Amino acid sequence: MNVYKFGGASVKDADGVRNLFKIVNTHKENLIIVVSAMGKMTDAFEVLCNAYFNRTGGTGEALQRIKDFHAQIIFDLFGEQRADVCGAVERLYAELQRILDGEPSLSYDYEYDQIICFGELLSTTIVAAYLERQGRKAKFVDVRKCLITDENYRNACVDLDLSKKLCQKVFTFQDTFMYITQGFIAGTTTNQTTTLGREGSDYTAALLANLLDAEDVTIWKDVPGIMNADPKLYPDTQVIGKLSYKEAIELSNCGAKVIHPKTIKPLQNKGIPLFVRSFLYPESHGSVIRELDEKLKLPPIFIDKGNQLLLTLSPRDFSFIAEEKLSRILATLAKYRLRLNLIQTSAISFSFCIDLHEAIFDRFISELQKDYEVLYNKNVRLLTIRHYTEDAIREMTAGKKIYVEQRSRLTARFVIAGSE
Ligand code: ASP
Ligand code: MG
Repeated sequence: MNVYKFGGASVKDADGVRNLFKIVNTHKENLIIVVSAMGKMTDAFEVLCNAYFNRTGGTGEALQRIKDFHAQIIFDLFGEQRADVCGAVERLYAELQRILDGEPSLSYDYEYDQIICFGELLSTTIVAAYLERQGRKAKFVDVRKCLITDENYRNACVDLDLSKKLCQKVFTFQDTFMYITQGFIAGTTTNQTTTLGREGSDYTAALLANLLDAEDVTIWKDVPGIMNADPKLYPDTQVIGKLSYKEAIELSNCGAKVIHPKTIKPLQNKGIPLFVRSFLYPESHGSVIRELDEKLKLPPIFIDKGNQLLLTLSPRDFSFIAEEKLSRILATLAKYRLRLNLIQTSAISFSFCIDLHEAIFDRFISELQKDYEVLYNKNVRLLTIRHYTEDAIREMTAGKKIYVEQRSRLTARFVIAGSE
């Protein structure tokens, strides 16, 4: 059995859905298809959710944008013969409307998950209907019934034992060769919806592969494979044909967007290879991530992570930055769910780089200011060069203002000025 994951970019319009059909139609073995919300619909659902939760008005407009977007795709795919799929989609909108007509609870994270899931529910409903229309019926699975998590909304933790039992009951392949289900979303034992973190569909694909002992996972993307730099930002990029799990986890942890950081562990644990291939050029091989014995000679790999916040904390009483203080700072980061991307300490200062979250910025800074003098730079980015060479460093940092520089055996990292 294989798992295919199609992200938002691959199903951003009717042509994308047709292309998905072509790819799965040539597949001859048992297959689970995991699909994300179409195009940028998760962002659109975030707008809807914020308007609802903050009671700022505008839910009607936000919802209309979502409906128009899907209606266009449905029309392009089904033309006049769209009554069935429209019926299924209307039922989802009615469910969503019931939430929007009610009062939000006090938990933003909870409300977020109950609303945001409709992106994936809509996309899988439409794609499943299209596959069926083309004569390739894929059995529809509501993944919330078998991927079970705790109640840590927006970043839920999967109960692997329970999910394994349930998934094995659902994905039996007894009366079908093909299933279609949602990425990113999951459910609790009490039937609430949860999510696994933004861009979490890759992780869903990896989890299902792990729980059901798949042969491999393929992520279909708009890039030809894993590249040594973002081709949208740099010319002269190259595809890296194979990578070890370890290398892949390091890269995604540094901010390489090609795969979600949580994706590797479930695959590594079972030795399941992960293919990253282009849905635009499905005949080309792309990249594979697997256990590799050989030591690969990799080219310099560039990861440019924008929208960073660099902070330097110094205790007001000039006391040393010792372990206990550090652990309290880390606890504050965890409380605000901020990811630490780089740290550097000196006798009485602690500098670190995190993703910038404007919404909590003021609260977070005031909390730190209680104990520390806080200096910060908002307009910075984190540049990582894995397998660096002196030439590569020179080329990438020439003329840039460098705030922090760190080199280890394989990795050079720079906090540099610039927001994009
Ligand atoms: N639709 C979700 C998002 O955009 C999950 C995913 O695409 O992986 O974050
Ligand atoms: Mg997405």
